[in-house]
Order: sequence, then C-alpha cells, then structure tokens
Amino acid sequence: MTGRTAGPSDLPRQIDVLIIGGGATGAGLLRDLARRGLRGLIVEKGDRASGTSGRYHGLLHSGARYIAKDIQAARECIAENRILRRIAPGCIEDTGGVFVATPDDPDDYVAAFGARCDAAGVPCDDVVLADLFRREPALNRRIRKAFRVPDASLEPWQLVEANLADARTRGSLALAYQ
Ligand SMILES: Cc1cc2nc3c(=O)[nH]c(=O)nc-3n(C[C@H](O)[C@H](O)[C@H](O)COP(=O)(O)OP(=O)(O)OC[C@H]3O[C@@H](n4cnc5c(N)ncnc54)[C@H](O)[C@@H]3O)c2cc1C
Repeated sequence: MTGRTAGPSDLPRQIDVLIIGGGATGAGLLRDLARRGLRGLIVEKGDRASGTSGRYHGLLHSGARYIAKDIQAARECIAENRILRRIAPGCIEDTGGVFVATPDDPDDYVAAFGARCDAAGVPCDDVVLADLFRREPALNRRIRKAFRVPDASLEPWQLVEANLADARTRGSLALAYQ
C-alpha cells in the first residue's frame, strides 16, 4: 500500500490473529505470524512505536548485564541479539559495549565476569585500560577493569516499520489511530 494511510476498508477478508498494540512486540509478532502463513491485523490506538518502544534507551542487549542474576535471560538476550543482527541489520548501529569495574564493585563479581559470560554464551574480551581511556577521555581513571561485549544501538522506528512492511507483503495489516 503506498501514498495513503491504511484504514478499515483495507481489511483483508480473513484475519487469523488480532494484535492490540503496534510497538516492537506487536510488529515483531505480526511479521513472525505472517511468515508462518497466518494473516494478522494490528490495531494501534496511537502512532506506531509511540509507546515504550519509541521511548526506550535504544540498547540492543548482549545479555552481559544479566549474567550474575539471571543467566537464562542472558542466554536469551544473546540469542535475540544474533537474530536481530541477521534479520534487521539496517536498524542496528554496532557501537559495541564496555562494562567497567569501579573501585566499589565487589571483587568476586569482577573476577567471575568473564567466566559467567562464557557460561551464558556472551562474547566478552578484556579491554586494555590505556586504550579505553584514550577512546573515552572522560572515563573515571579509577576504573580498574573493563570488558567488551556485543551490545549495540537499535533504532526502534525502523525496526517496527521493517517488520510491518515484511508482514504486509504476506497479507497482514497494521492500522494506526484505531
Ligand atoms: C525507560 C525504559 C528503557 C528501556 N530500554 C530498553 C533498552 O535499552 N533495550 C531493550 O531491549 N529494552 C528496553 N526497554 C524495554 C522495551 O522498551 C520494551 O520491552 C518494549 O518497548 C515493549 O514493547 P511493546 O511493543 O510490548 O510495548 P509498547 O511499545 O509500549 O507498545 C504497546 C502499544 O500498545 C498500544 N496500546 C495500548 N493499549 C491499546 C489499546 N487498548 N488499543 C490499541 N492500542 C493500544 C500503545 O499505544 C503502544 O503503542 C526499556 C523500557 C523502559 C520503560
């Protein structure tokens, strides 16, 4: 559909799944269902991605922040991170991420960080502090250890639109302001 906003008259004759809300979850679900042969319809009360998805911090998690308290969440994060890099590379800026240990961080947390990342399948490399301070001059010089992980920046509007566009080519539809 081009040149105009979709409305109820564009409704496909048969809908298999009705999705309320056109944020990252709804748009991703619509695309996933469409690729499984199900025709979906999103009804969104505002603009697409106008809820949490358009206001979040923009971080594509590697899972590193969950390795101490929830290793399963860390595993799921790195799996989703890889999927998004494969299916939506244009929405991702590969900034990388660095976890730093401050003087106040517990020694056992810092000592176990690399092993915990390995256990969760989150790639993690030691960073040479002199290089990091050169790159990030404002960083506290009392930082005592740093680890590089595959965090990135994820642009939500492009992601939502790309998922909707793919779903539309398979007969699904998303209506805004409903
Ligand atoms: C401050 C903050 C920062 C975050 N930062 C990150 C981050 O850096 N990285 C990360 O991975 N996650 C982050 N998250 C989590 C992430 O933003 C959410 O998990 C994600 O956006 C949820 O998407 P959603 O589609 O489920 O919800 P939403 O984006 O909120 O979408 C729900 C949609 O439903 C619509 N809606 C509600 N009721 C109705 C109705 N009755 N009829 C029609 N439409 C309706 C709303 O208008 C909205 O558009 C953050 C969350 C917060 C709060």
